[in-house]
Amino acid sequence: MQVAETVARARELFAASPRPLGFVPTMGALHAGHLALVRRARERCATVAASIFVNPLQFGPSEDLARYPRDPEHDRQKLEAAGVDAVFMPDGAAMYPDGFATTVDVGAIATVFEGAIRPGHFRGVATIIAKLLNVVRPDVLFLGQKDAQQAIVLRHMIADLNFSVETEIVPTVRESDGLALSSRNAYLDAQERAIAPTLHAALEAVGAALQAGRTKSDAVAAGSTALSPSATLEYLDVVDGTTFAPVERLDAPAFVIGAARFGKTRLIDNLWIP
Ligand code: AMP
Repeated sequence: MQVAETVARARELFAASPRPLGFVPTMGALHAGHLALVRRARERCATVAASIFVNPLQFGPSEDLARYPRDPEHDRQKLEAAGVDAVFMPDGAAMYPDGFATTVDVGAIATVFEGAIRPGHFRGVATIIAKLLNVVRPDVLFLGQKDAQQAIVLRHMIADLNFSVETEIVPTVRESDGLALSSRNAYLDAQERAIAPTLHAALEAVGAALQAGRTKSDAVAAGSTALSPSATLEYLDVVDGTTFAPVERLDAPAFVIGAARFGKTRLIDNLWIP
């Protein structure tokens, strides 16, 4: 596996790669969810590229940038074992040199749900992905359904700015009790870990109630009672699968989305209803 640490080296490496080139951007601390994206890229693409970069621009001032888990040596081993051909691992100065000033603002979709709770988050995400797409120039971008709003925001950016890349959204990988794999699960203590799967249970309860013909407010009420009373619900809603606009009924593909706090740890999850 080749490793590029500078933009110049990455450009050189990826320009010479056999096509199609698949790309899996990550912030490291890799788990089986990330590796499912790599596996899907390996199935479809002649070359698989990944990146590891903990992007400061997508963390708010009170968020966990400093304590975000970092394990570059194991991450490299995992990517190599999963069949990644080349990984881009820039440092902060490579991506945000002195004088960096241009950001990508994705509009209203970035101001609801995660965007409302984490102002500026999607500007940071869209900016780093725009930069990475310009460096790597992939044919297919692989994104996790786990971060559904992020995937939809990025699809909008790619369409709006005429990036020439296809996106594929890969289903969420879960623990056997339903908890979606996430680097942030490492922050949960034993008690919080025990109740964390109730977020997934809440989403399933909403989905089941809607599919049984109940109104959205009934369905969301049923979902809220499935969440552990020790957790704090931030939102639970049903949104259109393309626009992320809230919907009342399942007339078109939709996501049931939810976010909750378990102690100090925020978890998000969603279900896709085709
Ligand atoms: P992150 O390192 O958190 O930025 O995640 C990198 C990519 O992995 C994103 O596209 C995520 O949506 C995806 N991802 C994270 N967790 C999972 C999971 N449990 N299942 C599938 N994809 C995931």
